[in-house]
Amino acid sequence: MAQSTPSQQLLEKIVSLAKRRGFIFQSSEIYGGLNGCWDYGPLGVEMLRNLKDAWWRAMTQRGDIEGLDASILMHPKVWEASGHVQNFSDPMVDCRECKSRYRVDHLFAEMSEKKLKSITKSLVLETRDFTKDQLAELVTGMIEQNDSIFGSLVEQELIPCPNCGRTKTFTVPRSFNLMFETHIGPVKDDSNAVVYLRPETAQGIFVNFLNVMQSSRQKIPFGICQIGKSFRNEINTKNFLFRTREFEQMEMQFFCKAGSDDAFFEQWRETRWNWWRSLGMPESKLRFRPHEKLAHYAKAAGDIEFEFPFGFGEIEGIHNRTDFDLTRHQEFSGKSLQVHDEETKEKYTPYVVETAAGASRGFMAFLCNGYEEETVNGEQRVVLRLHPFLAPVKVAVFPLVNKDGMPEIASELERDLRKSMKSFYDDSGAVGRRYRRMDEIGTPFCVTIDSDTLTNQTVTIRERDSMQQVRVSMGHVKEYINERLSSPV
Ligand code: ATP
Repeated sequence: MAQSTPSQQLLEKIVSLAKRRGFIFQSSEIYGGLNGCWDYGPLGVEMLRNLKDAWWRAMTQRGDIEGLDASILMHPKVWEASGHVQNFSDPMVDCRECKSRYRVDHLFAEMSEKKLKSITKSLVLETRDFTKDQLAELVTGMIEQNDSIFGSLVEQELIPCPNCGRTKTFTVPRSFNLMFETHIGPVKDDSNAVVYLRPETAQGIFVNFLNVMQSSRQKIPFGICQIGKSFRNEINTKNFLFRTREFEQMEMQFFCKAGSDDAFFEQWRETRWNWWRSLGMPESKLRFRPHEKLAHYAKAAGDIEFEFPFGFGEIEGIHNRTDFDLTRHQEFSGKSLQVHDEETKEKYTPYVVETAAGASRGFMAFLCNGYEEETVNGEQRVVLRLHPFLAPVKVAVFPLVNKDGMPEIASELERDLRKSMKSFYDDSGAVGRRYRRMDEIGTPFCVTIDSDTLTNQTVTIRERDSMQQVRVSMGHVKEYINERLSSPV
């Protein structure tokens, strides 16, 4: 069996910690699991809520953005208008030998530069200054326009199967719609009853645009934001939470007048970049990648990418969607979604700048970013360096020893802290081990009750990253911690 690479090993360690400590479980595990679906355990659900809360606060506590929670099932015409019924598909190919299935763009994205060069050479393309990503995009684009090129490359043995290594085994590309279909009502074969599980939250916002604007008395420019589940029947699910079939998105659509859209695009690009940074993502692990090939609806687009153990991957897309969506919904519904310009007294359809982040993918990015192994006094410690706002447990309280009234004082303090933050009481094992258990789930503060507490009512507070301890009077513990937990926005 092939040895796993250091980055695969790192990911395996993160997945194993996530399971062992109750962040993430495989869905339906006792039945062998369900591909592309995961469950959030007790710590995972806390951390995910904190992440969504940080986003929600950043979006809604600024006066020009309103929240919404639209239903997952929508009128089927929504998806015709949005273009998803026609266009939301990926070309896929199967290996006839080992039955592996691939998205065509992924096949090239993961190919070595050398192999990509031999492909572009065979297609007689001039690619001297191209990066590896550009080569992959170029080849994918050519195949999208003419899929017989794929067959000819397969015949020339230029596309081996990444799984079994055989050549000449791939089928021709076939289009595969990523939307999950289901039925409303009891009669399954009634084609009028087909509905889709939404593949993005954005459309719920577009169709409610006027409802929100009128009820909240907002004026252009303003935004609507939403957090919710989306579903995509992805061809390949892999890399833990990175690409799943059910996931959560945090999307915001900002409605503005044509002409101001370019400036808002730049503003939102910067605002969203700063948000990821404010929660502890280092500059060195983030990059912004502008899209070279734009979706049919977009005027400008780019991704904020995070460096996962397997390489850079998108965590959020920023798109200038123009007036495409509102115009299409007007055409398909026959209802006006225009607004009145108070200056020119004319009606117009607003443009939309969208920020589309993954809550589940972002969650994974923070786990990967935080995970660290280090040696302290000759002993290894695993520490999850999460921003305190994201940490699932904020504080742990320990009695140094289980005697002299220390457990009683510690549990009383913990019960008091519990009223305002997620806390944990632990009196089992040596204090060093209790610290380690808290380090690996990212708990930023541990409070210890010791013999000095009995005489002067002070406790030690130990900080996770620096491991430094300070002595604080018991009455100030809550204030001390709360000051350091405050929301990053
Ligand atoms: P990709 O190119 O990776 O398939 P996308 O460009 O289709 O993603 P968007 O439609 O822009 O993604 O979705 C916005 C965000 O939703 C992404 O940045 C990502 O964080 C999240 N997301 C999209 N698809 C998935 C998925 N299958 N699993 C988990 N998160 C996803």
